[in-house]
Amino acid sequence: MEVALVGIGKIALDQHVPAINDSPDWDLSATVSRHGTVDGVPAYDDFARMLAERSDIRVVSLCLPPVPRFGYAEAAIRAGRHVMLEKPPGATLSECHALEAMARAHRVSLYATWHSRQADKVPAAKAWLVGKTLRKLTVNWRENVRQWHPGQDWIFEAGGLGVFDPGINALSILTEILPDPVHLSAAVLKFPENRDTPIAAECQFFHPEGAEVSMVLDFLEPGEPTWTIRAETDQGVMVLENGGGKLTIDGHVDDSVPCLSGEYPRLYAQMARLVEKGGIDMDLSPMRHVADAFTLGRRITGARFEW
Ligand code: NAP
Repeated sequence: MEVALVGIGKIALDQHVPAINDSPDWDLSATVSRHGTVDGVPAYDDFARMLAERSDIRVVSLCLPPVPRFGYAEAAIRAGRHVMLEKPPGATLSECHALEAMARAHRVSLYATWHSRQADKVPAAKAWLVGKTLRKLTVNWRENVRQWHPGQDWIFEAGGLGVFDPGINALSILTEILPDPVHLSAAVLKFPENRDTPIAAECQFFHPEGAEVSMVLDFLEPGEPTWTIRAETDQGVMVLENGGGKLTIDGHVDDSVPCLSGEYPRLYAQMARLVEKGGIDMDLSPMRHVADAFTLGRRITGARFEW
C-alpha cells in the first residue's frame, strides 16, 4: 500500500520512515511538510495538492504535533483516505470523536496509535496481571525534556500536553495491562510561570478493588530517563521498565523474544490489518485520563522554563 507521511520532524524520521521502509506492506510514496523531506521521496508542502494529485495514495500517516492534526485528518478523511494518527490522536477528546464519526461516514479506516502499547513486554505484563489481586501500582515517568524534545515549543503551548506528552505513553500501557479500569481521583500539576502546559505532575487513581494506584511525571529529570510501572500483587511483584521494553517478575527478567520487533513496525502492521478489513481503532482511554487530570488537577505555578 502506498502511504504519505505528513509532518516530517523528529518522530517521522526516527521511527516512521524506517518502519515503512522495512515493511513488506508499505511504500512511502509522498511526504507533506513545510520544511522536512525524505531523500528519494516526492515531497509536497501543500496537503490539499497532494490529496488532489495523488489519488494512488490511499493511506495518510499524520506525524504532526497534536494541535494542527485535526485539520489534516479531517481533510484526508473527506478525501476518502485511511488515516493513521500519532499519539495523542488529537488536541481534545471531542476532536477525536468527531474524526471517528467522520471516518465511519466516509467508510475509511482510522487508527489512534499508541506506540508504547507495542513495546516488547507489554503483552507479557498484561497476561501476568490476569487473575492476581493488585495491591499497589506506581507509575514513574521521568525524562529530560531538553534531551528528548529539544526546542519543541509546541509541547509547552496549549494543547501540547507538556509532561503528559510522555505521560500519555505510560497511560497507554496502564490502560492496556490493567484487568480493572481505573479513573483519576486527584492530581497536582506544576506549570512553569511562562508556559501553558505542566512540567511535572502527581496523579492518584481510583481502583475498583481498592488498590493504591499513583503516577509521577517529571520533565526535568537530569539523568537517564525512568519509564517504569511497578505492580505489587497478592502473588508477587512485576516491574515493567524502559517504557515497556523490560519485564521483571519477582526479580527474574523475562528474556522471551517477540517475533516482530519494534513498536512502529507493529503499528504499521496493525494499520495494514485495519485497512484490509475496513476497521477503526480509536481507543481514547489514555487521553481521557489526561483530560481528567487537566479538569480535576490542582495547579501549582513554579519557576520559568527556558530551553
Ligand atoms: P516535531 O519534530 O516538533 O514536529 C513534527 C513536524 O510537524 C515538524 O517537523 C513540522 O514539520 C510539523 N509541524 C509542526 N508544527 C506544525 C504546525 N503548526 N502545522 C503544520 N505542521 C507542523 O514533533 P515530533 O517529536 O516528531 O512529534 C510529533 C508527534 O509525534 C507528537 O504528537 C508527539 O507526541 C509524537 N511522538 C513523538 C515522539 C518523540 O520522541 N519525539 C515519540 C513518539 C510520538 P514542517 O515544519 O516541515 O512542516
